[in-house]
Order: sequence, then C-alpha cells, then structure tokens
Amino acid sequence: MSIDYSGFAFPKNARVKNKKLIDDKNHICERCGKKNCWTNTHHIKSKGSGGNDTKDNLIELCGNCHRLVHDGIIEKEELLKIIKRRKQKNENK
Ligand SMILES: [Zn+2]
Ligand SMILES: [Zn+2]
Repeated sequence: MSIDYSGFAFPKNARVKNKKLIDDKNHICERCGKKNCWTNTHHIKSKGSGGNDTKDNLIELCGNCHRLVHDGIIEKEELLKIIKRRKQKNENK
C-alpha cells in the first residue's frame, strides 16, 4: 500500500475546500518549504483537546507533511519549533 500524498490534502476541514480561501493562502509548506503546493491548515493542538483557531496553534502543511504529522512521524515538538521560529521572524520585522 503506497500512495503518494504530496499535493494531496486531507479533506478533513471543509474550509480548505473553499477555492477562494485556498487562493488566499501562500501555498508554502511551513515545514519543508515546498512552494505552490496544496497546503492544509493543521491544528497543532487538536480542537478535540481544546486547541483554538489561533495563529500559534495553526500551521500550514503540504499534504505529505500533514500525513506524516498525523502518522506521528513528525513530532509535535517539531511543529512547535516552527511556530517559535515564525514568531521570531515576525518580531524582527
Ligand atoms: Zn511539507
Ligand atoms: Zn492535521
């Protein structure tokens, strides 16, 4: 069983199916830096466990990275580091 998930987003969240919303996004995966791909917003802390729709809890991932996160191959700590780096970048502006 091997499926290529790159360029494929989990159709979990109805909002990402909205074409206009997709066009408004950067299409850049915040983890691997892949550009012009179909990205999907991932909740670092799932809504089920109390995660919010705040910037610090949301990360833009390509289909491949998103799958790896959900498979547990990419750890939450790694995502948190990316958020931290993103914050530092914004502060330096
Ligand atoms: Zn990626
Ligand atoms: Zn996700």
